[in-house]
Amino acid sequence: MTADPRRQVPRTDTLLAEPRLAAAAARLGRELVKDAVQTVQQRVRSGELPPADAAGAALAALPGTAGGLRPVLNATGVLVHTNLGRAPLSAAAVEAVAAASGTTDVELDLATGRRGPRGEGALGALLAAVPAAEAALVVNNCAAALALVATALAQGRELVVSRGELVEIGDGFRIPELLAATGARLREVGTTNRVSLADYTGALGPDTAVVLKVHPSNFVVRGFTRAADVAELAPALAGTGVPLVADVGSGLLRPHPLLPDEPDLQSTLAAGADLVLASGDKLLGGPQAGLVLGRTELVQRLRRHPLYRALRVDKTTLAALEATLRGPQPPVQRMLDTAPADLRRRAGALAARLAAAGLDAVAVGSTARIGGGGAPELELPSAAVSLPAGYAEPLRRAARPVVGHLAGGRTVLDLRSVLPEQDAELGDAVLAVRA
Ligand SMILES: *Cc1c(COP(=O)(O)O)cnc(C)c1O
Repeated sequence: MTADPRRQVPRTDTLLAEPRLAAAAARLGRELVKDAVQTVQQRVRSGELPPADAAGAALAALPGTAGGLRPVLNATGVLVHTNLGRAPLSAAAVEAVAAASGTTDVELDLATGRRGPRGEGALGALLAAVPAAEAALVVNNCAAALALVATALAQGRELVVSRGELVEIGDGFRIPELLAATGARLREVGTTNRVSLADYTGALGPDTAVVLKVHPSNFVVRGFTRAADVAELAPALAGTGVPLVADVGSGLLRPHPLLPDEPDLQSTLAAGADLVLASGDKLLGGPQAGLVLGRTELVQRLRRHPLYRALRVDKTTLAALEATLRGPQPPVQRMLDTAPADLRRRAGALAARLAAAGLDAVAVGSTARIGGGGAPELELPSAAVSLPAGYAEPLRRAARPVVGHLAGGRTVLDLRSVLPEQDAELGDAVLAVRA
């Protein structure tokens, strides 16, 4: 009569006292483990799971960490994928984040025991990487850097910007709306496709606070076009007292041979910009951050503005940024610099491993992209493993999610956005969903 397993559902207290689940509760928190226990109790009650397997099933259902974001293998071929958290941090940056996570010397000079400047290490690393800058400041992201510049330098006054540079960066984020929200008055010059130096100089007046250049990171205007670049504008503004601020977006430190149209921080300052702004998590390959570099007097005005306190970054961001700049080449830059022959060799090896296990897997040529980081038209030669279309969804929903893309009725896993040390794990993930 009592043999029915449904009547033998293990008690919550008993399961929570099971040594492996008790250890998991100490690591992940009691609530997460309790939720998993209640789910398996339900499965036992419904007859789906034998009572003896309850503890093991609860253990298997637990997440790897108490935190909410899941690590995903990016096989999309898009190097800086905004939906996947943009740049992956280097191992050096991850270690620096872990080390900085406890109490740290972020604002304490350990030699004197007095308060020290916040984030001195990261700022020093930025100045070492961009010698044309006199001073640097780090805020939450590039949008925050723009908001701080417009508020501290141009609130209630005019900010001159070309109509061709009033861009939408993504997901409804429109730079002109952000600028207008700060109380700066936008003084638009030129047309969508053409703007001249005279358009800018003709707009200058007693109320002009800033001339802003914005790099149109995600589109290209072609045909009958003309723009005034920093090198052309800087001499015209010299002596007017109006600072020239350039939002370069991608965070490239120096020119990159594959990216001739992406402005970099060093060259833009050397060409005469007074301030440059960029993201930390695009082509720089670091944490989400807004980098501001340039003239000391302007950086000081930004640092002293009350809004800076609301936009500054935490100790882990400072640590990750410093390690990105001083440490080994970060992942995004390694992916960018990978030779196509290496990618073909890796795709061949991975496809062979999967085919040997009986899967319909073949190595194919592919085209990768920078993504949200810039260079919208750049096609990076790449190599991929092609699988039947039906793999896309189970791979995405797997314990170790893999995101690829669909092309020609197949699931394509592009290896340019995967690091070589992740190939084995990618193979394991594909073999795991075959079952
Ligand atoms: C990406 C980008 C931004 C926004 O940067 P976030 O760091 O995401 O705030 C602003 N300006 C330009 C030119 C960009 O390319």
